Amino acid sequence: MTIKKVSKSFETHFGNQYRLFAAPGRINLIGEHTDYNDGFVLPAAIDKKIYLAIEPSDDRMMQVFSVDYDEEANIAIDGPQPEMPHWALYSYGVARELLSAGHHIGGFRAVFSGDIPTGAGLSSSAAIESAFAVALNELFQLDADPMSLAKTGQKAEHNYVGVRCGIMDQFASFFGKKNHAMRLDCRSLEHAYFPLALQGYSLILADTRVKHSLASSAYNKRRQQCEEGVALLQQKYPAIKSLRDATPELLTEHKDMFDREVWMRCIYVTEENQRVLNACDALQQGDMEKLGTLMFGSHSGLRDRYAVSCKELDLLVETAENTKGVAGSRMMGGGFGGCTISLVKTGALEPFRDNASAAFTKAFGHEPLFYDVTTGDGAGELSETR
Ligand code: ADP
Ligand code: MG
Repeated sequence: MTIKKVSKSFETHFGNQYRLFAAPGRINLIGEHTDYNDGFVLPAAIDKKIYLAIEPSDDRMMQVFSVDYDEEANIAIDGPQPEMPHWALYSYGVARELLSAGHHIGGFRAVFSGDIPTGAGLSSSAAIESAFAVALNELFQLDADPMSLAKTGQKAEHNYVGVRCGIMDQFASFFGKKNHAMRLDCRSLEHAYFPLALQGYSLILADTRVKHSLASSAYNKRRQQCEEGVALLQQKYPAIKSLRDATPELLTEHKDMFDREVWMRCIYVTEENQRVLNACDALQQGDMEKLGTLMFGSHSGLRDRYAVSCKELDLLVETAENTKGVAGSRMMGGGFGGCTISLVKTGALEPFRDNASAAFTKAFGHEPLFYDVTTGDGAGELSETR
């Protein structure tokens, strides 16, 4: 078990005075490419986590051991940034961002490990940031609120890892609540919890294990096309600040103003925002079939209108559509690879896995990987004794 592994490793490296923290990865039920358009997302924290054992030290060094990489990083928290292993950038970034925000933190000794698949779109990176942010907040009694700690993690990722992520991942890792999904308004950062009462259904991820190189150039192009659409709409409607302020009806009314491709991108975003709001209604009504239909709708939009899917993702979703008992399925994350998320009647999990595996292997020559996910709580200290 990962917690035991972390405790044992801490004892071997640093002794037996430490506190234990954990922070989860996340899924996103629906709301893709809406975050940078000031729209809505619907993530949930999962029961796969980063576990961290940590104690303060009286020097100004961070001494961190990664169990999973079997490697130690020993870094002064002040002064210029030294060379370090990639995995250490996340904790170093959090420490540095806390210092730049004016918090007083000292050195620390830490050991961490996790069971979140890395690079699969479950945000193992945000989980590391959240685990360290919540731990340093407690250890040094910073009294920072969770949203500012989530933003610290996001800044660490921007400024030290070099990934310009939105706030969803760190938000979900901090604010997650078991058996709940959270609607986050990416403009105001207001959020609301909705019961994710799966009763008889399960969530399963299928990992294509591919990442097409198109991803980052296409991402930049989509952002630019959304901005172009907003600029056009603003000529008629100055109050529109982002696609969040537009509706599918408005876009349809003004279709002839637009370049065809830009219009497709923009209408997708407005439709996806509405799907998120409808998905929240479905959760409130406990209507999993309705949620599933919206997920299929999200995938069609991402494939046909936003054009960020790929043949591997499409085949998995198509198999889901053709398997009895699958309520919904869609690509999750930026696109061009990564995972699909599917909502499946628990009894249909095995047929779905078998069908998807067979079709996928036949088409692409390798098997997809499957991860069962259940929801879990957000980042915090673990009370269990060691
Ligand atoms: P994602 O956040 O989607 O999982 P990223 O590429 O953003 O993918 O983050 C993965 C990186 O985070 C890894 O390359 C590694 O540096 C770090 N990481 C994730 N999990 C662990 C772990 N258990 N131990 C050490 N480093 C980890
Ligand atoms: Mg990440």
